[in-house]
Amino acid sequence: MTAAMDIAITKATESKLKSTSFEKLVFGKDFTDHMLEADYENGEWKNVEINPFGPIQFMPSMAALHYGQAIFEGIKAYKNADGEAFIFRPYDNWKRFNISAQRMQMPEVPEEIFIEGMKQLVAVDEDWIPTKPDHSLYIRPVMFATDESLGVHASKKYKFLILLSPAGAYYDAPMKIYVEETYTRAAPGGVGFAKNAGNYGGSLLAAQKAKEQGYDQVLWTDAFEHKWLQEVGTMNVFFIINNVAITPSLEEGTILNGVTRDSAIKVLHEMGIHVEERKINIDELIDAYKAGTFTEIFGTGTAATISRVKELRYQDFSMYFDLEKYNIAKELKQRLTDIREGRAEDTYGWMLPV
Ligand SMILES: *Cc1c(COP(=O)(O)O)cnc(C)c1O
Repeated sequence: MTAAMDIAITKATESKLKSTSFEKLVFGKDFTDHMLEADYENGEWKNVEINPFGPIQFMPSMAALHYGQAIFEGIKAYKNADGEAFIFRPYDNWKRFNISAQRMQMPEVPEEIFIEGMKQLVAVDEDWIPTKPDHSLYIRPVMFATDESLGVHASKKYKFLILLSPAGAYYDAPMKIYVEETYTRAAPGGVGFAKNAGNYGGSLLAAQKAKEQGYDQVLWTDAFEHKWLQEVGTMNVFFIINNVAITPSLEEGTILNGVTRDSAIKVLHEMGIHVEERKINIDELIDAYKAGTFTEIFGTGTAATISRVKELRYQDFSMYFDLEKYNIAKELKQRLTDIREGRAEDTYGWMLPV
């Protein structure tokens, strides 16, 4: 690794900090005073700068808009009781970002831009990190193709940005979900394992249909039989059966390798809960539900950490879950929150000091 990159910093003339209402933060609406920018051109990254947050100009022919080479990440920064700032597991997001980049024929972003740039940016806007419980600074790295051409090919130019958005306590309302049998999020050989923008665009119709029927999200299934379970909305999913945690395995490449999923697996082990990463289908869940051994189902992701499910429907059969009995999800969430907010010892080295 070369010496720390020189990042030119241009400070905003006026801070928006005082005029931002931290009492009623809506996710992803407010942004801090600065953002990181970098350009990829002629095979190299350049113009790595921290600039005032604001509009950027592009040509209408910008490739990302037409052909969808766009990927992103979601990460959180916290302050501990002593006011020290930390970023949660950014190296894992960096690795995943470059896996997404590779799948989408985009250049990798080097550590000194993704990690060092993020650290410097968070340091510049450190006062924006909320200190209240369950609050955090949401970090959004994003990269997109900027070639000015309608030719269908991998772009030669790219823009990389890091945005920061203060985030309030995510109200993780217990979800009503159903098993999706019409639409498909990802198939083997596709892009399900990449955090690319199009995966989200492609999922919105299914989410809307769920809303129309009074549900919050769908439980995605495989493309062939619509029986093998993948993810819940844009979260990884865990099932507790006989006090064993089961989560779909990553091998097929149809699900996102969630950092929260990985953290959950490690903390569940610590709690003495056996974890199985394997294929699991809806029939197994129904059998377990009827036998009374299927007690919890929850989603994991950076935004909400752990989201419990109160109803899971498959065709005409609904399974209901007693939120009072979500003992494993509850303890898991507490342990993860304690690590991130600096109340528990960081035995895994997950918290990167800013
Ligand atoms: C981002 C994302 C997740 C959660 O990943 P984390 O790293 O835990 O935030 C799960 N599924 C999909 C489809 C995602 O895009």
